Amino acid sequence: EQENFEYFKSYLKRPEEFFQKYIGIQVQNYCLDGSRRLEKLLDSSLNNLYQNILSAVSVSTQIVKDRKDREDKVSLWLDEFCRELTEVINLPRSDLKGIEHQEEVTDIEFLSRAMAEALADLRKRLMKEFPGADLSSFPRQPHTILAEHFSGCWAQCPFCGAICTNTMQDHDADHQLVFHRPRALMGTTWHGTDQLVIDICSSLVTSNLKFRFDNGKWIPYKRYRDAGPPASTWKILPDSSMQAYWKWFVSHFRKQLEALYNAKFQGKGEIPEAWGRITKQEALSELD
Ligand SMILES: [Zn+2]
Ligand SMILES: [Zn+2]
Repeated sequence: EQENFEYFKSYLKRPEEFFQKYIGIQVQNYCLDGSRRLEKLLDSSLNNLYQNILSAVSVSTQIVKDRKDREDKVSLWLDEFCRELTEVINLPRSDLKGIEHQEEVTDIEFLSRAMAEALADLRKRLMKEFPGADLSSFPRQPHTILAEHFSGCWAQCPFCGAICTNTMQDHDADHQLVFHRPRALMGTTWHGTDQLVIDICSSLVTSNLKFRFDNGKWIPYKRYRDAGPPASTWKILPDSSMQAYWKWFVSHFRKQLEALYNAKFQGKGEIPEAWGRITKQEALSELD
């Protein structure tokens, strides 16, 4: 359980970094676990490539063989070969200039056989490396691509630290989210006490209470936008419903939270008994 709480701490402190890391671990596990998906993927990609190149070799040979009119058969063969492969690999014709000028290469059948043999060898050599392959050989890391795909706005609610649910970065409209969390998760205490605030921002904004950030001015929650940015860039709709998950979380990790923030769930921060009766199962099922 302590371990789970450590996860939570890094999620709270740096949600974006946590998300990146989390996806990285998931991708690693997915690709490299017992079913060896990465190895199989490399294997099938190589096989595809191999078959395509092999067929390009044979197609070019067929075409060139029938061209009785041409003397420069090798050069013609290489033209065809590259053309055949344009959609498969990036193989500039100029890279093959060297072959063209090797004097011993005049016989097309010979060239075709030599190519096929060399290919088979190369394939074998590459396949030997696959069992030890990891994700580092990708020019762009798969988890980075995935994370970019899924990432949206990372703004955190200035009161509870929950993340804006907008899927666009730098969106125009105000930041917004559906479920705010107890402010205690960010370590907020009632003024002049060490009692944690278990209320959520969306119900605080309907109250007659006041708040202040970093010893700034006291501002009524109802006019939280007066605090200026970042609070003024948030649209916090009045809503008193709190997810069962956070009720469970606060009562389950009560001790860890108290230790983390050096504060207590006492007095105004007393955790309602009902929260303690929520099971982990109930808490998680709500998140599905
Ligand atoms: Zn909030
Ligand atoms: Zn946002």
